[in-house]
Amino acid sequence: MIARTHSLFAFASLAGVAVYSGKTEVSTATFFACLIFNTIGALLPDIDQASNRLWDLIPGGESIGKALGVFMKHRGISHSFLGIFLIDKFSYWLVTNLFNENFVDVGLVYWSLVIGVISHIVADSLTEEGVPLLYPLKINFGLPPVKPWRIKTGGWFENLVVMPVTGLIAIYFVSLYLRR
Ligand SMILES: [Zn+2]
Repeated sequence: MIARTHSLFAFASLAGVAVYSGKTEVSTATFFACLIFNTIGALLPDIDQASNRLWDLIPGGESIGKALGVFMKHRGISHSFLGIFLIDKFSYWLVTNLFNENFVDVGLVYWSLVIGVISHIVADSLTEEGVPLLYPLKINFGLPPVKPWRIKTGGWFENLVVMPVTGLIAIYFVSLYLRR
């Protein structure tokens, strides 16, 4: 999937969890931190691509991304259970060191990021390439298991069907959240 679909899919997932989690009040700071870190989580597994927009956040990021791309295969470790585990450990360290607990609900920000990461892996599993969940084993998993039935990344189906439908689901969850 392309970055825009991943961001939208992560937001819809976050909104869905927010509706059913039963947590009612969050501060404005926590709310925006959750949104930002949910998007970061949605883009993190594609950190193995130099074109990833996350690299624009740090000086010289694109060069680091290119250098990393020499060692990392796209959709390799970062799209596996091992990768999710490592990203989660790093994220927890990042979030707990970045925010002051008195102003921001660090736990909610962390979970928003994790939801972003998991939604990314789920979304990529719907594409033809699938995801190597059991990396370093080179077996790619996908939904549905029959490869030709899956989505072509960046193709018309993703742009004209998946993205609008995900957008509508996100709007539906946001409206439910606001009505609570
Ligand atoms: Zn990906």
